[in-house]
Amino acid sequence: MATINSETKLLGLIGNPTRHSLSPLIYNTAFRVLGLNMAYMAFTVERDCLEEALTGMTALGFKGFNVTIPHKEAVIPYLDSIHSEAKMIGAVNTVVINQGRLYGYNTDGVGFLRSLEENNITPVDKEIVLLGAGGAAKAVATVLALKGAKGIIIANRSLSRGQELAARINSMGVSSQAFSLGDLSKKVDLDQIDIVINATPVGMYQNKNSDLIAVNSLSRHCIVCDLVYGSKKSSLLQQAQKLGLAAIDGSGMLLYQAAEAFSLFTGLVPPVAEMRKELDVALCQIM
Ligand code: NAP
Repeated sequence: MATINSETKLLGLIGNPTRHSLSPLIYNTAFRVLGLNMAYMAFTVERDCLEEALTGMTALGFKGFNVTIPHKEAVIPYLDSIHSEAKMIGAVNTVVINQGRLYGYNTDGVGFLRSLEENNITPVDKEIVLLGAGGAAKAVATVLALKGAKGIIIANRSLSRGQELAARINSMGVSSQAFSLGDLSKKVDLDQIDIVINATPVGMYQNKNSDLIAVNSLSRHCIVCDLVYGSKKSSLLQQAQKLGLAAIDGSGMLLYQAAEAFSLFTGLVPPVAEMRKELDVALCQIM
């Protein structure tokens, strides 16, 4: 790491918990590669300390910060300005601080889109099934709708949350329906689906996600994505691979949401290849 001195510019992540975050590794790699006198740290911030944390970072001259669970929505009232895409998503994961003013963005959706693009996949005219309706699902659904998806079917554990997201996507002019997870296979012709995306934490670590969707009902051309990442593929991706379907994990989204935020923070092109190399090494150590 470059020497930290009185000129070092600070960036950080706020959330709770943050101790397993790979963001410090990704950003500090980029700073080292580009020779920038900047440093990135992760801070665990309790819900009732959010305002003090923002005031503190602004007072200390931070260039900006990333936001993760549980502050992505809670941070919005404290911002001076919010980018239109983040407004549509209803959540912010990146805040740039400029002359004491706070500018909010959401790079999760575009990060996912870039991970599709690097696999030569476009959402244009695609029928998509999205499992989940939480923060990540909202970001992904909004960007897919903006980028020309034909239809987005949302399957969520709590139907009302899925319906809320479907209504938002419909209001953007893209067809969207919501089902409970249990009803998905009964009500949707799964072999007509082009892309399936798991945006729930089911399938992380020892959890199994074999029940989320009947993978064997999907067509051979279907692409299966899981936003989770780690050394092992989730059970959803393992099933997809066994059936010969394309399977994409969340590591590309993680990398590219950071790459987009890096550009917002610094105005520079991030050294993506080196960032990915370090990330891949770290991911190998995640069970
Ligand atoms: P979130 O806002 O808490 O939403 C969680 C979603 O998962 C909700 O739809 C929730 O359903 C559903 N869910 C939770 N537990 C479930 C269970 N046991 N069975 C069925 N559904 C369940 O979380 P998030 O921020 O959207 O994150 C979701 C996943 O995406 C996490 O695994 C996270 O690590 C991953 N993620 C990855 C990236 C990346 O860069 N690759 C970025 C962001 C998030 P209800 O609405 O019914 O509660």
